[in-house]
Amino acid sequence: MRTAVTGGAGFIGSHLVEYLLERGDDVAIIDNLSTGRLENLQAVLEHPRLTFVEGTILDRGAVDEVVLGADRVFHLAAAVGVHLIVDHPLDSLRTNIHGTEVVLDASLAAGATLLMASTSEIYGKNAADSLPEESDRILGSPLKSRWTYAAAKGIDEAFAHGYWREFGLQVSIVRLFNTVGPRQTGRYGMVVPNLVGQALRGQPLTVFGDGRQTRCFSYVGDVVPAMVRIAENRRGRGQAVNLGGSFEVSILDLARRIIEVLGSDSKITLVPYAQAYGEGYEDMRRRVPDNTKARRLVGFDPATTLDEIIVSVAEDSSMAPAAQNAGLADQLLAG
Ligand code: UDP
Repeated sequence: MRTAVTGGAGFIGSHLVEYLLERGDDVAIIDNLSTGRLENLQAVLEHPRLTFVEGTILDRGAVDEVVLGADRVFHLAAAVGVHLIVDHPLDSLRTNIHGTEVVLDASLAAGATLLMASTSEIYGKNAADSLPEESDRILGSPLKSRWTYAAAKGIDEAFAHGYWREFGLQVSIVRLFNTVGPRQTGRYGMVVPNLVGQALRGQPLTVFGDGRQTRCFSYVGDVVPAMVRIAENRRGRGQAVNLGGSFEVSILDLARRIIEVLGSDSKITLVPYAQAYGEGYEDMRRRVPDNTKARRLVGFDPATTLDEIIVSVAEDSSMAPAAQNAGLADQLLAG
């Protein structure tokens, strides 16, 4: 099987690439190394079945280089992370809309199937007890960059759906809910690596707002195999499928848990949203996936616990010197 992965040097992309190589695929990556890093691919960079193209998905020639000849494509390249999107709204819009159109068109031309990564952000401020895929979207003004991102990803889904309906492209969409794990960087604002890094360094954990907003974190090691199974399942084509964690936690409780699990001396400090993201930023109070569809389609069972996730992130060598973190899991989860 020949597989192309856009964004293959990113956090989720690099885990996916490793998984696909282990399963025997030939893998071709395109990544512009904006938020992705070659270090993420350290373990596989010399692999004989891996090729890497440094390039942007806005460049059709570069995309064709990896997609032509592929049996399937995983499209993960995107401008992600709240800080990046707030700071560079135009780049995010261009990459996320035009770039996706390029990948859709190239996949169609190659006769490849496509799995497109979307996001729970598209549900916006819908704080329902759980969000099945057909839930309404509740978005703020498109002049606020957070909603610009949600709008762009919504357009991506509509594009994918259009390519499926009008051209028969065999495309499936996964909506990822706060996927976390090793190699995710806190640099663009993601809460788990941010707080874990602070706890490891003995700094205050910065909890934004009142900390009572909730999320359902899912482990990258649970999500990646499910993505591949969904890509391979004909019944998911032309549809969107949620992939999220099964436990809801407030950010304040997350911070407390991180301190406890890591045995950190850090304190928690509440930071007003305006200070964290600038004026006018809106957060969602709650975001809970309904995973029924993924469970039915591919038996999705996100089994990794929050404590295990915290330890896996703390052990990540990019968090702190490797020696300091080695064997942390054994110590922390012993007994
Ligand atoms: N957050 C926080 N401290 C941080 C980073 C994020 O309290 O250092 C909050 C953020 O405001 C949000 C939640 O944690 O309520 C999840 O943030 P993230 O950016 O990871 O994901 P998203 O907002 O996209 O769910």
